[in-house]
Amino acid sequence: MTLEEQTTWSENESPSLRSYTLQDFQKIPQIAGLSEEKKFEMEVVGNVLPFKANNYVVEQLINWNNIPNDPIFVLTFPQKGMLLPNHFDEMADTLKKEADKKEIQEVANKIRLQLNPHPAGQMEMNVPALKDGTKLYGMQHKYHETCLFFPSQSQTCHAYCTFCFRWPQFVGMDEMKFAMKEGEQLVQYLIEHPEISDVLFTGGDPMIMKASLFSTYIDTLLEADLPNLKTIRIGTKALAYWPYKFLTDRDADETLATFERVEQSGKHLAFMAHFNHPAELETGSVKAAIKRVRDTGAQIRTQSPLLTHINDSSEIWSKMWQKQVELGCIPYYMFVVRDTGAQHYFGIPLVRAHEIFKDAVKNVSGLARTVRGPSMSATPGKVQIDGVSEVNGKKVMVLRMLQGRNPEWVNKPFFAEYDDGAIWLDDLKPAFEPKFFFEDELTKMKSKTTS
Ligand SMILES: *Cc1c(COP(=O)(O)O)cnc(C)c1O
Ligand code: SF4
Repeated sequence: MTLEEQTTWSENESPSLRSYTLQDFQKIPQIAGLSEEKKFEMEVVGNVLPFKANNYVVEQLINWNNIPNDPIFVLTFPQKGMLLPNHFDEMADTLKKEADKKEIQEVANKIRLQLNPHPAGQMEMNVPALKDGTKLYGMQHKYHETCLFFPSQSQTCHAYCTFCFRWPQFVGMDEMKFAMKEGEQLVQYLIEHPEISDVLFTGGDPMIMKASLFSTYIDTLLEADLPNLKTIRIGTKALAYWPYKFLTDRDADETLATFERVEQSGKHLAFMAHFNHPAELETGSVKAAIKRVRDTGAQIRTQSPLLTHINDSSEIWSKMWQKQVELGCIPYYMFVVRDTGAQHYFGIPLVRAHEIFKDAVKNVSGLARTVRGPSMSATPGKVQIDGVSEVNGKKVMVLRMLQGRNPEWVNKPFFAEYDDGAIWLDDLKPAFEPKFFFEDELTKMKSKTTS
């Protein structure tokens, strides 16, 4: 079947998940046909950064007539440019001389440590504790109303995105893995923190969990009957990478029934769907899966980073948002690629990111303009680039926090010197003052958590 023909879905289409990794990706017929050089490049990069694809991605999302430029191919298969040339050569030499596993691992870890594996103070600053002092490594609590929860069984995904900022969790180097076994500790934390209204299940991908496990976590939360908890959010890429999770997988119905129970309990289930490209919204199976999720009463909101080589044009974004609205989803965030891993390959200058955002918004109806961005999840908070302007003859970038470690910081405009090469907050200089307004307070917060 060609891509164009896959616009309807019937229950006869019920594949089992077949994953491809570094060990066996060369068996994929479409890969076997590529040049030896290209395959070796993938192997080099795949030995440093995580790699996993699956049969749905390979057979239905990637257009193999469009290699090497196909966006979904770049999104899921290792690309040479993801490693800096010196790192690439180092791993290539190691593989060429047929080093043993241990040496390959050592070289890989050495390179990984140079890729800023823990950006935005995730390790030091966001790990919460219970009143009795128990540290909760399976949670992050950065913004007052919302805490992140990383169930220990969701530290993987149906396929891996090449740009993923959570990559250290998938290469076995992340000792904490932010993983926590007990939903009960989560409940205790929510009791101690009445300011929290939202719990965001994340990972990896929580929709990789079997429904029985997932429902255990959810039911623990619902049974605790916490008045402050209003919304359970699920951050997931399963609609894009494995829609059968909601259609024909053995636990599809139980998963959907769990969503329904959340809604019936009077709380909201916010399904935070990760889509990077309109191609992920084309298949009959994804459309059917979206419908089934929405039929539970859950609301689907969508988000994605802006990525060079994958979705760096305003046409792609307006098309993606329009399709999402058409399918009943609410565009939510456009992110900026984080300062970790292969940022040098996927990153986009902030000024350019704002232009793409502005041009994409311009071409969609108000229903798609619910989206906010481009937004950087930086150490002080989520910083949105509002645009470029001129103040007293000086060209500046206008910025604003959408979320802040201190809620008082939110929505206060601030200014940076115009810099069309900057790709992250750290690259920017305040336009009129020696420091950004939040810097002194942030320094104090940092010293509190590291001492
Ligand atoms: C983005 C994010 C949230 C959720 O923020 P919303 O603006 O409410 O969607 C919560 N915690 C962290 C650490 C985040 O990065
Ligand atoms: S689905 Fe999300 S967590 Fe998984 S690899 Fe992609 S970006 Fe990372």
